[in-house]
Amino acid sequence: MSRLAVVCGGSRGIGRAACRLLAQRGCRLAVISRHQDAARATVASLHGANHVAFSCDVSIEQEVHKTFETIQKTCGNISYLVNAAGINRDALLMRMKPEDMMDLLHTNLLGTMLTCRAALRRMLHSQGAAIVNIGSVVGLKGNIGQCVYSASKAGLEGFTRSLAKEVASRNIRVNLLAPGFIRTDMTAGLREDVLAQSIPLRRFGELEEAAQAVLFLLESSYVTGQVLVVDGGLQLVM
Ligand code: NDP
Repeated sequence: MSRLAVVCGGSRGIGRAACRLLAQRGCRLAVISRHQDAARATVASLHGANHVAFSCDVSIEQEVHKTFETIQKTCGNISYLVNAAGINRDALLMRMKPEDMMDLLHTNLLGTMLTCRAALRRMLHSQGAAIVNIGSVVGLKGNIGQCVYSASKAGLEGFTRSLAKEVASRNIRVNLLAPGFIRTDMTAGLREDVLAQSIPLRRFGELEEAAQAVLFLLESSYVTGQVLVVDGGLQLVM
């Protein structure tokens, strides 16, 4: 029977690229985003059949609870969870609106905590179950104009390491991917020609390069509680 992979934030960017690779590996996908049409479009583009789309805001506990309940009823136990749902709201802290601060923390940090909590009990009976959360090099190194985004991603590092310890005895692995600049909607407004000068590999990363790292962390049976940085060397010079 094929493995069930739940990808939060699977309608675009790194999440969608991870869905593509997982479907090629023979997984059945449950694709989650706030917009059902966008999640459905991902499902329609995937290799294989039986994939399903869900609209769910990961920052709202009731929606997460209901969605994971439906996933289990309709698709069964979960093997993989990828937390790629995320937002950015860049501004100097002094100028940042409190509602933007709340949105960042609720989506990037609390959202991942809620989906992990909802998924875990449905992963207990899967062999080789694994979770990949998505942080950022900014969470490891900090960045001007990204205090709250950085805090949300740094929080994910502590959360991931702690959860990895909590569930290791159940043979569930939990790791964090920390990308640098990857070409997605989130970085579409940035000047790659300027920013790439400060990246040792002199370019932004491709979606597939981030998704390959997600796949590695999901499938590597002896890696847990780790942070994998995929940034063209950026953190070396930050
Ligand atoms: P995109 O903006 O391309 O995609 C974000 C995805 O998250 C979409 O599918 C979006 O769907 C979904 N999403 C956003 N908010 C919610 C929510 N509240 N509930 C459910 N789904 C949500 O982002 P990227 O692919 O670029 O980023 C993916 C992750 O990687 C993020 O956590 C980001 O912070 C992180 N990252 C990205 C980097 C980059 O350079 N691109 C660098 C470092 C980290 P919808 O709008 O339909 O809800």
